[in-house]
Amino acid sequence: MRKSQRLTLSAVTAGLTVLLVGGVLAAPSVGATTNALTQLVKNPGFESGATDWTSSSGVIGQWGSSGEAAHSGTWDAWLNGYGSSHTDSLSQSVSIPAGGTASLSFWLHVDTAETTTSVAYDKLTVQVGSATLATYSNLNKNSGYAQKSFDVSSYAGQTVTLKFTGVEDSSLQTSFVIDDVALDASGSTPSPTPTSPSPTPTSPPPTGPERTPAKLAYTVNLTSDSTGANWSGIEKIDFTNVSATPLNEVYLRLWDNYHGSCPTTQPIKISNVTGGTAGSLEVGCTALKITLTTPLDQNQSGSVSFNLAIAVPSGSDRFGRNGSYNYLGNALPLAAIRDSAGWHLDPYTNNGESFYSLAADFSVTLDHPTSLLTPSSGTTTETPGSSGRTVTTATASKVRDFAWAAGPFSHSGTTSTSGVKVDTYWTSGVSSGSAASIQDASSKALDAHGSRFGAFPYTQQDVIVDNTFWFGGMEYPGFVLDTPSSTAAVHELAHQWWYGIVGDDEYRAPWLDESFADYATDLYFGRTGSGCGITWESSAEKLTNSMAYWDQHSSRYGTVVYGYGKCALHDLRRILGDSTMANLLTEYAQAHWYGVSTTAEFKAAAQAKANALPTPVDLTSFWSSHRIEG
Ligand SMILES: [Zn+2]
Repeated sequence: MRKSQRLTLSAVTAGLTVLLVGGVLAAPSVGATTNALTQLVKNPGFESGATDWTSSSGVIGQWGSSGEAAHSGTWDAWLNGYGSSHTDSLSQSVSIPAGGTASLSFWLHVDTAETTTSVAYDKLTVQVGSATLATYSNLNKNSGYAQKSFDVSSYAGQTVTLKFTGVEDSSLQTSFVIDDVALDASGSTPSPTPTSPSPTPTSPPPTGPERTPAKLAYTVNLTSDSTGANWSGIEKIDFTNVSATPLNEVYLRLWDNYHGSCPTTQPIKISNVTGGTAGSLEVGCTALKITLTTPLDQNQSGSVSFNLAIAVPSGSDRFGRNGSYNYLGNALPLAAIRDSAGWHLDPYTNNGESFYSLAADFSVTLDHPTSLLTPSSGTTTETPGSSGRTVTTATASKVRDFAWAAGPFSHSGTTSTSGVKVDTYWTSGVSSGSAASIQDASSKALDAHGSRFGAFPYTQQDVIVDNTFWFGGMEYPGFVLDTPSSTAAVHELAHQWWYGIVGDDEYRAPWLDESFADYATDLYFGRTGSGCGITWESSAEKLTNSMAYWDQHSSRYGTVVYGYGKCALHDLRRILGDSTMANLLTEYAQAHWYGVSTTAEFKAAAQAKANALPTPVDLTSFWSSHRIEG
């Protein structure tokens, strides 16, 4: 999505970055003593900041001036408090000596804007290993701190992860503030050498392709009501486990449930699942686990299918309704990705994108009133349906998502010089002259981007123009939403390469799509990006930060990820030279065509080019000064 300011946006979503599972074996910090209590939690009051803890962004801090004073000292851990769908976590691995008692305690303060006295909307879960010790909620609000204690003697002799997870729903903030965590144990530490057994992997390290499920094929049949705002039908997903690790479950992402009231009124509803058993909705109702009836070993294939109902909410948005015009971005449930780090189940972000999916094949039929046009991803054909209705069939190959719209659009089509069919659709608020100039820019941009990064591999591109979007534009494969701005159109079409053809984890590394799309936009307009004026706001601000960071620093997202990001690429071009930079991007795109790009891979590719210069250049200081880490 294009950077934009939504005026009503204050504190916005962020959340869970990495789930710590298992964790490292931590040596007990204090020597063996029987019958004396040893406190095992390191940095227990957070007075050393994030040292020894794993937490999501914006949790550990000196929050006294923000109204969440510490229980002791000046640091504490503040989970949640956003008033929007958000997950925060905090964890540390602890080795509990064998042969004694163990007690976990911490101080907890809860404040909330919820007024209910009966419904737990926002929850904090306390876990040791996989066991849940306690759950707190907005109903546990208190003034000041209260100490909570638990007997965890049953974990003596084990290394376990203490974990706090806060999940907030879509409205009214609840803050869970934790301080002075202690795990007091009386057992003896194990004998000196070895002090603790080496971790024994339960399965061999995975080899081969990691991102799974892959070889995805989506088959979807949906029928709309007379307005095009409500759709129902079936979706089937075929997939293959390409990982050496068995696939016991898949996760579907129901991104647009962010727009609903979790869990009461969800815009995306799934029922009658076959091929597996659905669990409860997770991550603000945006993730659904389906435990497969038959787990898949490597290279085995399976499928799940389900009934799907979609209700487009009002509001001119990527998933929303502007009068009679309906936009269905992120409405089809997609399979989440599991890799060596586990399942990617990041929260929705309204500032950018959380969407991370593998290239897949889609076959989608849309049965709709003939009076509504349905621009969409893929290549479409229309056939007559029942009385007054049309069936649009769309096929898209090697794309990461499928989006569509439904409304009484005006429509015009052209073919670019290189042969891409460009279809432009616009609302009644957009003049035909404006639409024509967007279409012209789009056609030229597709060819220009293609000449730089590799020819556009699809046959059809739809461009939808609406002057009421709160953002500049939004990208989907073969389908972009734009305000009447040529710059927005050129940027969103650059995303067909940077995000679409060359995929990335948009939550983890948004710069890989936004900085590159904005750089491509500069190239299109002949801008050189001189005089970047990079001024970092803090030591924590980095070009490569995740959306968890930007959601907490939303006023800096556009400046850094778009502005500094494209400027970093211009600076890299100045180091490498224009032609070497051009070759780098062409070859890099080719190497990751329909795949996934990472920051580390881009850095390695750029360094290889720099090494091959007549006078080789070490890019270490360039990465450092532009804060490109990873
Ligand atoms: Zn963008």
